Amino acid sequence: MSDIAIAGMGPAGAYLASLLGERAVVYEMQQEESFTSVCAWGTGSLGMKDLLKRVGINIDDYILFSGKRLYLEFGGNLLRFWLDGLATFDKPRLMKDLTKGIKVHYGTRVYSGFLESRYKVAVDATGVHRRLLSPIKNDFLLPTAQYIVKYNDMPYDDFYITPFENYGGYLWFFPIGDKRAFVGAGNAVPDHEKRVLNFIAKTNGEIVQGSRRGKAIRLIPPSMAEPHFRMNAVGVGESVGTVFPLVGEGILPSMVSAKILYDNDFDYRLYSVKLNKTFEPYDAAFKLIWNKMKRTGGFFENLGLMLATLRYIRGNSKMVGMKVGLSDMLNVLRFF
Ligand SMILES: Cc1cc2nc3c(=O)[nH]c(=O)nc-3n(C[C@H](O)[C@H](O)[C@H](O)COP(=O)(O)OP(=O)(O)OC[C@H]3O[C@@H](n4cnc5c(N)ncnc54)[C@H](O)[C@@H]3O)c2cc1C
Repeated sequence: MSDIAIAGMGPAGAYLASLLGERAVVYEMQQEESFTSVCAWGTGSLGMKDLLKRVGINIDDYILFSGKRLYLEFGGNLLRFWLDGLATFDKPRLMKDLTKGIKVHYGTRVYSGFLESRYKVAVDATGVHRRLLSPIKNDFLLPTAQYIVKYNDMPYDDFYITPFENYGGYLWFFPIGDKRAFVGAGNAVPDHEKRVLNFIAKTNGEIVQGSRRGKAIRLIPPSMAEPHFRMNAVGVGESVGTVFPLVGEGILPSMVSAKILYDNDFDYRLYSVKLNKTFEPYDAAFKLIWNKMKRTGGFFENLGLMLATLRYIRGNSKMVGMKVGLSDMLNVLRFF
């Protein structure tokens, strides 16, 4: 008997459903045949492996491209970082496999009140939409646009990122195999589309017809994305701010939030406390980009935030898929 309804079949909703098994029922607004995910499909495959082991799935079966190093272009300089499992994977297929054997109502857009009145628990896994929870007081959403681009000669043989000089976002080039890549950008100043198109033209890429997708991403951390629950509705994933603000990584953190909810037996209050605690390092990362964007915060405050953020990346290489050594940290600080 299903007593927990989940709105949204992204990483948070699908992973929670796989943990719950037949206790879960999923409502997804997209149609089954065209189900996809507006995302660059990049993740720390080692962190993913750990999470998926619990539900009997091997991430290796979904990998499209395994990275070795990340090219980071900043202020005209090209830095290289060794990666630790960063890969692109077939995200929509994994979401479908996570929900195999579970009832999914595709093509059903839910609104506040619909699931709450029919099920014991209603889970908001609708990502940036946050359909079942109350609005956030100081929300911060960044607009993004992305294309699938085909190349005769790939301009980079690996992951490439270039942060913008206003610190308001960055452009990404994520290979997905077969000489194709996701090329996209997000920026607080809405010129990201122009920047993406310029990059594609400059690198002689050919846009795959109909591949453009645009979507906002929520960058505030969980501590700022409260309330995390309302009556019998509770949020997981991006709906409650589980995106690492510095790089926009939201897949793994969203799944982690689902695990915290599950492991704490849907005790909403305890979940909310643990969510804030687990993602506390995101507070510094968000404050850092906010200060840099708004040109606020003193030198020493921002330096402290930067060091705290780099330390988090260094200590969580499985999650972020990157190895950051001391020399890398010094390299980044040179441009700070
Ligand atoms: C352009 C772009 C690129 C990104 N690239 C990466 C990346 O490479 N790596 C990474 O880690 N993160 C990336 N992110 C962030 C990442 O995609 C998200 O943070 C993550 O998928 C959030 O997971 P979620 O399950 O909380 O929500 P989502 O993945 O957004 O899933 C929400 C689901 O809910 C459904 N839904 C929404 N409203 C309703 C409704 N009312 N009723 C029913 N269903 C509904 C949606 O169709 C969707 O399937 C990117 C984001 C963007 C916008």
